[in-house]
Amino acid sequence: MVNDKYSKIKQIKEYALVNKIPIMQDEGLDFLTTFIIKHQIKHVLELGTAIGYSAIMMALCSPDLKITSIERDEKRYLEALKNIKELHLEDRITLIFNDALNVKIDDSFDLIFIDAAKSQNIKFFELFERNLKDNGYIITDNMYFHGLVQKNEKEIVSRNVRGIVKKIKNYIAFLKDNDKYDTTIYDVGDGIAVSSKK
Ligand code: SAM
Repeated sequence: MVNDKYSKIKQIKEYALVNKIPIMQDEGLDFLTTFIIKHQIKHVLELGTAIGYSAIMMALCSPDLKITSIERDEKRYLEALKNIKELHLEDRITLIFNDALNVKIDDSFDLIFIDAAKSQNIKFFELFERNLKDNGYIITDNMYFHGLVQKNEKEIVSRNVRGIVKKIKNYIAFLKDNDKYDTTIYDVGDGIAVSSKK
């Protein structure tokens, strides 16, 4: 069973690589799972399931953790469902197939993990912060956007990428100016922002 588990995780990572599906980098994932254990997180809302890799890794790091995760791409959602079922985690990971911006959830969470469309981070934050428990955390991945956020914008050739980088910079400013949260950006993986509710 243990070997089965590791070979399934390896298979999910290979599927992501072959199908060019962006999943969390190992370093970022180590940070996230360590954070979950250290802060005794019990209930996570994830925006951006992709094929379930990060949700599965979070569930495996802590046996009583429950996760709700939202994905808008049907093929990825179906692949995530299959992966979660094969690892027998369907009782602990609930998937929602929809655009997160159209989802209303009543539950409260200790941690909201934002890993969906990078240009919509402010909207996600503002929409779901009402679901955050007192003393909860919002973690956002890809604050460096593959190192492009630290680059001179003029050096970025693609207009589309320049637009995303600009929005990530706006999001960083939004977090820093937000006096309801303390935010630290950690230099791990692709840059991880941890915002703790004051
Ligand atoms: N968290 C995943 C992991 O590490 O295994 C990776 C998520 S991937 C970086 C981002 C995913 O968010 C994509 O699969 C994309 O389809 C999804 N996504 C983007 N915008 C979304 C939205 N508004 N609502 C729901 N899903 C969204």
